[in-house]
Amino acid sequence: MHDDIERILLTEHELRVRVVHLAAEIAAVYAHDEPTLVAVLKGSVVFVADLIRCLPIPLRLAFVWAESYRQGTRAGRLELSGLPPEEDLRGRRVLLIDDILDSGRTLSAIRAELGSRGAREVRTCVLLDKPVRRAVELEADHVGFRVEDLFVVGYGLDFAGRYRNLPYVGALKPRVFASASGMERAP
Ligand code: 5GP
Ligand code: MG
Repeated sequence: MHDDIERILLTEHELRVRVVHLAAEIAAVYAHDEPTLVAVLKGSVVFVADLIRCLPIPLRLAFVWAESYRQGTRAGRLELSGLPPEEDLRGRRVLLIDDILDSGRTLSAIRAELGSRGAREVRTCVLLDKPVRRAVELEADHVGFRVEDLFVVGYGLDFAGRYRNLPYVGALKPRVFASASGMERAP
C-alpha cells in the first residue's frame, strides 16, 4: 500500500498537532452548549475519531452517509442517507464534519437537510480544503489544512475503496489511477 504513494503531504505528526488545535478552536465555540457532531461517512471516520478524543466538552455524535465518487476520482450524483431524525436535531447546534471540502456540493446539501430538520445552527469543519475547486458558495468554519488541487488519500480518504487506513495523507502514483479499472469500489 505504501508503495502506491508518490509523496506524503501531511505526516502523522502534522495531523496530530493540527487536530489538537482544531479541537481547542471548536471547544471554545461550544463552551456553553452541547453540540451534535454529524460526521460524513466514510471519509471523516478517522478524523472524527481523533477529533472527539481531543474535545473535553459534552457532545453527541451522529453520522450521515454521502456517496458522490462513483468512479475513481470523478464525482457522480450525490446520494445522502441515514440522516439523523428530526427529534435528534430540533433546536440543536450542529457541527458538520467531513474529510475534505472540494466542490462544496456534499456539505452544502447536507447542511440544507440538517437545517430543514430543525437544527438551530449548522457550522462546518473539514480536515482538508481545496478552495480552487469550489463550485458552490461555501467556506468551512473550521479547516485543518488547505491543500493544492491534487487527489489525496489516507487518514480516512479513499481511492476506489482503498487507502483509508494510511496514517498520513498522501498523493497516489499515476500508475495506480491507470490500473484502477480492476479495483472494486467498496459500497
Ligand atoms: P465535494 O462535494 O465538496 O465536491 O466533495 C466532497 C467529497 O468528495 C469528500 O467527502 C470526498 O469523499 C470526496 N473527495 C474530494 N476530493 C477528494 C480527494 O482529493 N481525495 C479523496 N479521496 N476524496 C475526495
Ligand atoms: Mg466523503
